[in-house]
Amino acid sequence: MSDLRDFLRDLEASGELLEIKDELSPRFEISSIMKELDGNALLFKRVSGFAGKMFAGACSSRKRILSAMGVSNDSLYSRLLDAIKNPHTPKTVSDGPVSEMVEKPNLHKIPVLTHFERDPGPYFTSAIVAARTHDGVENVSFHRLLVLDEKRLAIRIVPRHLHRIATDTGGKPLAVSISLGLHPAVLLAASCSAPYGVSEFGIANSLMGGGLELIECEHSEVYAPADSELVLEGWLHPETLVDEGPFVDISGTYDVVRRQPVVEVVRVLHRRDYVYQALLPGGLEHRILMGMPKEPKIFEFASNVVPRVKAVNLTPGGCGYFHAIVSIEKQNDGDAKNVIMACFSADPSLKHVVVVDTDIDAFNLDQVEWAIATRVRGDEDLLVVSNTRVSSLDPASDQSLQTGCKVGVDATVPFTKPREKFELPKVPMSDQAKRTLASVGRLVERTDLSRR
Ligand code: MN
Repeated sequence: MSDLRDFLRDLEASGELLEIKDELSPRFEISSIMKELDGNALLFKRVSGFAGKMFAGACSSRKRILSAMGVSNDSLYSRLLDAIKNPHTPKTVSDGPVSEMVEKPNLHKIPVLTHFERDPGPYFTSAIVAARTHDGVENVSFHRLLVLDEKRLAIRIVPRHLHRIATDTGGKPLAVSISLGLHPAVLLAASCSAPYGVSEFGIANSLMGGGLELIECEHSEVYAPADSELVLEGWLHPETLVDEGPFVDISGTYDVVRRQPVVEVVRVLHRRDYVYQALLPGGLEHRILMGMPKEPKIFEFASNVVPRVKAVNLTPGGCGYFHAIVSIEKQNDGDAKNVIMACFSADPSLKHVVVVDTDIDAFNLDQVEWAIATRVRGDEDLLVVSNTRVSSLDPASDQSLQTGCKVGVDATVPFTKPREKFELPKVPMSDQAKRTLASVGRLVERTDLSRR
């Protein structure tokens, strides 16, 4: 694995790339197709006003990410945790594929998408932003960027690592690189909640087995992946604020308008025929990239209170953010509630946690619902905690105080009741029956529930 081109070739070879040949406009037209075909990897071959192609939905399926990284769902957490704990500093090279074309900034030449009706303008949504402190602490993270004019962007910065680096400059401009068109491993690394001081480029390089190379930007000591499709070099002005938003966030609702800093772009690098990478706000890719990298930490915290955690799923329906399904092997009827508390302390943005036994597939929501339907007593199995701190993205919370409510659901089978009451009856299947089944095929897929 190395860059987006390799990933696209693999998708094409395995028949997983949906090619769209009609010419479509970056204003609403492309996003309307992305929304309808959410979950697919899409290659738009003709984009109005743009000579290159556009790619969307790189990480809109969990399976696609796992196969791009060459890991199974079971080994994902150890792989991510290992990369976070053992980042490898990437090699720096003097130029790379992205340095093929170097231009003065004109953001209007880039086919940035306007996604939703109330959007204030075109938004870069798949860009990762890198910055460094004067003593060399590097951070790489996703930020949405609203195009203001030919050279300027508004950047949304939540109070995390980039915010801390920008604040530490004492108001002075901060050099940043903005990179687009990257392999899923780099996107996943940039989505990780690694501790401050750990460079997400190092995590990406570790995930890629040492394949990541960086180029140094001309305007300052800040780096960008050499095999990006497109890089914008610029200065972030922490004290120059403009209106940013409304923007559709992972909740699938419009986030509020805030005063946010401006980035002044000073140089643009791109491959000659660069592929513009798009990402649908509030879509599956957004939710999976927000959720999946948080699962290992929740897994670790839950593993501290119960001997075996099988899986953690931050469900796309729960916005990849608010809902966790955790399957555990419990030893005591109190274990599930302890796991619920561990999950809430691992991730303060979680609202609802459902704990199931290991006979339930945490990624099969029909099965999870079946466990809630047959194994839960509302007067015993709920844990409700009022007035807790919640995410600013939670529309149901008191957004001025940022407090809300967390609910845990113990959907495990109680030891006090006979286990067989909760079992799904099996029908013995003979070899003959298996041969018969294989020969007749099927008209309708079995439900997920009966696939257990
Ligand atoms: Mn960070």
